[in-house]
Amino acid sequence: MEKVRVGMELLFLLIFIVLVASGKMMLWLTIFVISLLTAAVFGRYFCGYICPMNTLMRLSEMISMKMGWQSNSVPKWLQSRVTPWVVLVLMILTTIFSKRILQREFPVLLILLFVAFFVTLRLKPWAFHNHICPYGALLRLTGKYAKFATTVNASDCIGCKKCAKVCDANAITFESPSKEARIDPSICHQCAACITICPVDAIRYQK
Ligand code: SF4
Ligand code: SF4
Repeated sequence: MEKVRVGMELLFLLIFIVLVASGKMMLWLTIFVISLLTAAVFGRYFCGYICPMNTLMRLSEMISMKMGWQSNSVPKWLQSRVTPWVVLVLMILTTIFSKRILQREFPVLLILLFVAFFVTLRLKPWAFHNHICPYGALLRLTGKYAKFATTVNASDCIGCKKCAKVCDANAITFESPSKEARIDPSICHQCAACITICPVDAIRYQK
């Protein structure tokens, strides 16, 4: 499964680069809009399999882990759900301003890619996914209604927390006092890392 995911990520990174280089950003936007709408059925697969920012973040996370740069905590001031919406508004205003007034394209997406890369050199990936990324904020809206999603069969879970350690989205919490894992579909990327690691096969992608 991991190999399929990495293969898809690289394929979509290539598609993204080709579309940016040929100035066909509307096509990329179409891919995003389709992913956004279908997240209400299949969950946020865009984040786990398509998003070029997430692909780059995997690289920066690897570098960060190797160099020992990654902090275990995310500053409280950054843990807001408002920030991604502010970023989204800024992106839209910058795009309109640069097109209408300056008559040129401002590379907002490219800047966001750099932010994603550099933030993940220092902080856990979920800091960007959940508290900076404007696309993530939009995907939350539909992802939370996912008909098919990665879910924990509570009766099988032994509360070992191995799933939470591999979750880049910080989507797994634990019930108290039963210690059973729970996955928040609004932030889960449907990446299947937790399914692979669970020692008792308690996690499934299911209806
Ligand atoms: S890895 Fe499996 S058994 Fe362990 S806490 Fe997660 S869901 Fe439960
Ligand atoms: S909960 Fe599982 S499938 Fe969802 S993002 Fe975390 S590791 Fe991936």
